[in-house]
Amino acid sequence: NESGPTITIGEILVEIMAVEKGHGFREPLALIGPYPSGAPAIFIDQCARAGGSAGIIACVGDDDFGRVNTDRLLRDGVDVSAIAVDPAYPTGSAFVRYRPDGSRDFVYNIGKSAAARLELTASARALISRAGHLHIMGTAFAIPVVADMLDEALATVRSNGGSVSVDPNMRKELLQHGQTAERFARAIDNADLLLPSGEELYLAAGVEGSEEAAVEALFARGVAEIALKRGERGASYYSAAGVRCESAGFAVAELDPTGAGDCFGGAFVACRRLGMGPQDALDYANAAGARNVTVRGPMEGAGTIAELDLFKRSTGRRP
Ligand code: ATP
Ligand code: MG
Repeated sequence: NESGPTITIGEILVEIMAVEKGHGFREPLALIGPYPSGAPAIFIDQCARAGGSAGIIACVGDDDFGRVNTDRLLRDGVDVSAIAVDPAYPTGSAFVRYRPDGSRDFVYNIGKSAAARLELTASARALISRAGHLHIMGTAFAIPVVADMLDEALATVRSNGGSVSVDPNMRKELLQHGQTAERFARAIDNADLLLPSGEELYLAAGVEGSEEAAVEALFARGVAEIALKRGERGASYYSAAGVRCESAGFAVAELDPTGAGDCFGGAFVACRRLGMGPQDALDYANAAGARNVTVRGPMEGAGTIAELDLFKRSTGRRP
């Protein structure tokens, strides 16, 4: 099964954003959307656009917000056979407004939307049994039923000889809930590849202090590779075998930061699984994240290899 598709499990959402920066939604505003969104969906779309075989297990409502997502993923080559349609709930949504300082105000409808109605359907089980790689999104741990599904998918993909990556993209407070901390730790223990952003490295390692100490702690737990996202400063790569790579940040004007980390991950996993070495995969992932922030909409800037090559040639790096 090693060559089977990369799969992920979790929320599909539409994002609707305020056109003007400001605070919250307590007055009538010009909005733009719906844009296809949801961290796992952005990841898998970028994975497919980069040429990786890719599929997602998710749930949408029987509405246009669901169709805007499914149509996009299908267009970009994602296997959508395990996206269920729940006629009783609307597709999940996130309304977002950027504040002048770059932080964000959100109104979410996820927990009581179709996004939380996921289950292991026959199609989902079939996709898991074909998978060669499972990508676990930290955000998915927020939905208890998804956490259960991830446990089962992890066991199946592992026993079929597949590999596992984890984006520990989760808020620290979430770890207080129920079994989340244990489950999160189990995912890390089972990860071949970790894709943390900034402080998430320490959250994943359970070690404070130096980057080296956190990286070593993760290698001691069996993680083989770490691709560390550094926002506008680019990214670094560490392997347990002692390889270290850097990719300096691309000098871009950031129009919409949402989805950068997910595009980075989708490109990195796709490139590695297509046989690329770590330095080339890191450069493509860095380019995918940077390109995505130049376009409005969470996955509108996901690029094909040809688009990423053009982006790399035409964009300078930060000093
Ligand atoms: P997200 O907001 O999607 O959760 P993240 O916090 O997981 O993102 P970041 O480190 O912010 O991850 O971004 C991921 C990658 O995208 C970076 O490592 C870099 O390659 C690229 N990137 C993000 N923002 C910028 C930027 N302003 N300029 C250049 N590259 C960027
Ligand atoms: Mg992140």
